[in-house]
Amino acid sequence: MSTGTGVGTATGTGTGTDVPMVRMTGVHKWYGHAHVLRGIDLEVPRGTVTVVLGPSGSGKSTALRCINQLEEIQAGAIRVDGELMGYREGVRRGTPTLFRLHPKVVARQRSRIGMVFQRFNLFPHMTAAGNVVEAQVQVLGRPKAQARERALELLGRVGLSDRTDHYPAQLSGGQQQRVAIARALAMDPELMLFDEPTSALDPELVGEVLGVMRDLAASGMTMVVVTHETGFAREVADQAVFMADGVVVEHGSPERVLVDPTEQRTRDFLARVL
Ligand code: ADP
Ligand code: MG
Repeated sequence: MSTGTGVGTATGTGTGTDVPMVRMTGVHKWYGHAHVLRGIDLEVPRGTVTVVLGPSGSGKSTALRCINQLEEIQAGAIRVDGELMGYREGVRRGTPTLFRLHPKVVARQRSRIGMVFQRFNLFPHMTAAGNVVEAQVQVLGRPKAQARERALELLGRVGLSDRTDHYPAQLSGGQQQRVAIARALAMDPELMLFDEPTSALDPELVGEVLGVMRDLAASGMTMVVVTHETGFAREVADQAVFMADGVVVEHGSPERVLVDPTEQRTRDFLARVL
């Protein structure tokens, strides 16, 4: 079946180390008549951290959700590690065409990407360890004992060795978010997406979550982080991207974009958040 939507034209895949972990080219997304992403181009090199900033409604969450295939795009292409997300290339009546992938293949693509949301969405009736075990067993088919071992290891990594048998209601927001990060890491993702991971937290709990993210970045994980924590961006990010009205207004080193932006819209935004 052809997508019939004119999705994408980019060709060529590869898995060399020079292939970016994420490459979005000319990505458009409509919700009904609302044109929410208006030609997004974005490259995230392997092993780097990209911070995305921008006003509310500019399309940051939508962009992450498209990378993770939670939403379909209507034009352009998204590649993760060189692989076209959601579609495959083929030829139909002599014309290069993109075909939608089978949901099972999309599920496999998605399993390589971890996502952490503003709201942690832990299962309330499961302990911290139980939450981290669950998808390993359900999605990856990992034996329960092995999944539990991995869960305990990851909960240790996010500083929660003494909370593994606590239920979400017995944990602070910062602790719950760290469980959510461990849960995402348990799927052994190649790419981690964070959508305002600290914006629902009390200010005194923000630091512990950013600390875990900083350690994760230092371990070499490729990360795309929507956040307005400019301190984190300047300290940890390799790239800062400023979005407004569904486009990337500017991108570059965090120092350049956050301290010396070239675009007036970026300056106006920073003047409001800083
Ligand atoms: P941001 O994360 O930058 O605040 P979003 O990606 O959440 O922006 O939203 C971008 C635009 O898309 C907004 O105008 C929002 O109202 C709209 N939008 C987001 N999700 C949906 C949806 N499921 N249906 C319709 N419109 C949506
Ligand atoms: Mg958002």
